[in-house]
Amino acid sequence: MSFDPATNLLDSLHVDATKGVNQSISDSATYTFVDGEEMTKTFHGEKEAFLYSRHWNPTNLELSKALAAMEGTEAAWVTGSGMAAITVAILQLCKKGDHIVSSMTTYGGTFAFMKNWLPQMGITTTFVDITDEEAVKNAIQDNTKIIYTETMTNPLLQISDIPALSSIAKENNLKLVVDNTFSPMIFSPIKLGADIVVYSMTKFINGKNDTTAGAICASGDFINSLIDLNDGTAMLLGPVLDTYRASNIHKNLFTLHIRMKQHSHNAMFLAKKFKEIGLKVNYPGLENHPQHEVMTRTMNAEYGYGGMISIDAGSIEQASKFMALMQEKGVGYLAVSLGYFKTIFSNSGSSTSSEVPVDLQEKMGLTEGLVRYSVGLDNHIEETYEVIYSCLKELNMI
Ligand code: PLP
Repeated sequence: MSFDPATNLLDSLHVDATKGVNQSISDSATYTFVDGEEMTKTFHGEKEAFLYSRHWNPTNLELSKALAAMEGTEAAWVTGSGMAAITVAILQLCKKGDHIVSSMTTYGGTFAFMKNWLPQMGITTTFVDITDEEAVKNAIQDNTKIIYTETMTNPLLQISDIPALSSIAKENNLKLVVDNTFSPMIFSPIKLGADIVVYSMTKFINGKNDTTAGAICASGDFINSLIDLNDGTAMLLGPVLDTYRASNIHKNLFTLHIRMKQHSHNAMFLAKKFKEIGLKVNYPGLENHPQHEVMTRTMNAEYGYGGMISIDAGSIEQASKFMALMQEKGVGYLAVSLGYFKTIFSNSGSSTSSEVPVDLQEKMGLTEGLVRYSVGLDNHIEETYEVIYSCLKELNMI
């Protein structure tokens, strides 16, 4: 049978040292040693033990093991936000003088980090249309270290062909780093050839919008390099996840497979209806999506095409009125972020992609009236659709 992230994850479940069904929360920043010799050996990596919570602690280790099981990686490490996961992973791989080839459409914060912040460290990035393999190949330089992409890009929902990008990365001795935030379980990027997977767990993985968190899933060697006492970016920049939050996320993780299926079911329903009434809708589950075939070929089919859809409301003003009306009528919340049980919507160009200059937004096809939906877990999505339809009618959008 092919790789199944949910079964792998559920199989990783085990009772804790007290025989509790959930793992106990470690409430300690520091851990004791029997003697000085044990302490020295632990600090020199000659003995495995918990030494200090910023490095490892039992709660974060349990969550990390579960994430590694879900991704099919040897190891993982959890952070206080998605940006922390992205930045420490990149900074571990790229040093002064290095170069990155990145998808032009990524989360705005990632784009800003590469465009504005990394050059201060002497690291440059060429942004390309990640669906254009020739463009990716042509952008590679002698000093390129990584290819960076999102499996399903934010906010355009382009699908990266991970096997194809992996071949390019391998041929050129590069690492392929993939942000799988929009599509956990739907894609298993490591199984498709990626080297490192990063997540904002703030989104679908936790699914409760009650905290920010992130994760890096990769080989044991890479995770160990991140927490190396002398030059590990995770250890030295210190973005460790709090253990109470780690414990909550760990429990929420075990319902992720059911949530993803329902998000996908609801999004597919809305996408089809929006298309039927003539809206400009973007959803990778629709056959007219440019990478529908790529997604169908590379996804774990049972989780569907994801919970994200976008429509073009025509202008920023119309998008604004439309979102306000949907919020008033209870469709969901006008807010950034995604992966919540309630539907949330935002105008990407003026919010989560506002770091991307307007000319580049136009170049990548991000229209000013784009409304991005993170479709919730509604039990009767057909009723939600009726309310959205009434909003569209009221504003003469159809
Ligand atoms: N990656 C993607 C695809 C995102 O959409 C976001 C946030 O919206 C991030 C990373 C950053 O995550 P966080 O807000 O948890 O730092």
